Amino acid sequence: MKKHNFSAGPCILPQEVFEQSAAAILDFNGSGLSLLEISHRSKDFVPVMEEARAIVKRLMKLGDEYEVLYLGGGASLQFAMVPFNLMKQNGGHAAYLDTGVWASGAIKEAEKLGKVNIIGSSKAEGYTYIPKNYTAGPEYDYFHCTSNNTIYGTQMKTFPKVDTLMVCDMSSDIFSREMDFSQFDLIYAGAQKNMGPAGVTLVVVKKEILGKTGRNIPSYLDYSLHISKDSMLNTPPVFPVYASLLTLQHLEKNGGIAAAEEKNMAKAALLYREIDRNPLFEGFCAEEDRSLMNVCFKITDETRKEAFDAAWKAAGINGLNGHRSVGGYRASLYNALPLESVKILIDVMKSL
Ligand SMILES: *Cc1c(COP(=O)(O)O)cnc(C)c1O
Repeated sequence: MKKHNFSAGPCILPQEVFEQSAAAILDFNGSGLSLLEISHRSKDFVPVMEEARAIVKRLMKLGDEYEVLYLGGGASLQFAMVPFNLMKQNGGHAAYLDTGVWASGAIKEAEKLGKVNIIGSSKAEGYTYIPKNYTAGPEYDYFHCTSNNTIYGTQMKTFPKVDTLMVCDMSSDIFSREMDFSQFDLIYAGAQKNMGPAGVTLVVVKKEILGKTGRNIPSYLDYSLHISKDSMLNTPPVFPVYASLLTLQHLEKNGGIAAAEEKNMAKAALLYREIDRNPLFEGFCAEEDRSLMNVCFKITDETRKEAFDAAWKAAGINGLNGHRSVGGYRASLYNALPLESVKILIDVMKSL
């Protein structure tokens, strides 16, 4: 039986995508060959990469001043690629918002290449809210933020107006809500949270910001080089790219980001309402910053924990445990998670 999968990532994708991916591994487009055994430069695969790049700009309503890349190395490699490409070789200086483990990981990499100013941090409060009321001026090469903090369940509902380049790690809420994507100069996202399988990272970058640091960038880390090779500088991760394309086609066919957002808001509202209503559970993040993607909560009576754990497992629920650094529970409500699964979880919470 298919489980109700609340895993934080890798995570649920549309069932249709699992089926189409499986079919492509056996016989890709009726070619008599598996997707896994063809050249990435073949006439069957090149259009996959082209469409995977084009559909992102359509969904985000971005124009030709942006380029889309599919790269290896996860979002973690982007922590380093961003400063390599945007931080000046001499006197490099960037502003970062510290909203959790992933933001800190990005900060750590940037500090290896230049000076980092943490202009806002919620570390002292266990990252339970999003810092506000900060500014970043032109003295910085760029400003970096994390739109959704997967581990704590906080999400930036608005983005600051800054006077420098705007970079955002959208790994865990990409394509989950409408926004003006043109306010960003560079967006990146590991695919495995909301857009595909692990193994590929999406990068959307405004061309004009590149090539200005005076750095001699290692080839694989150089966005400009990837752009000049149409995101095929080396062998791309063909399977994750194809499965991501299928996921984005599924999204586009079903009403795009707007329709996904509506469903995501409905799922989150239902679950938060139960957490707030049920005395056995409590949220621990600032209400205004609560994430639509990762709903984190705790049980108020530890003696009931065993019964709750047994009950959700018996209901066919998977992946509800919180991140090991936070504990408690985390229900990840990514695009592909059906409302039905949320209702099952709520039934279990009510039954206790
Ligand atoms: C999971 C995650 C990452 C790390 O992604 P990898 O692809 O595993 O490197 C970075 N940022 C955020 C917000 C994440 O959720």
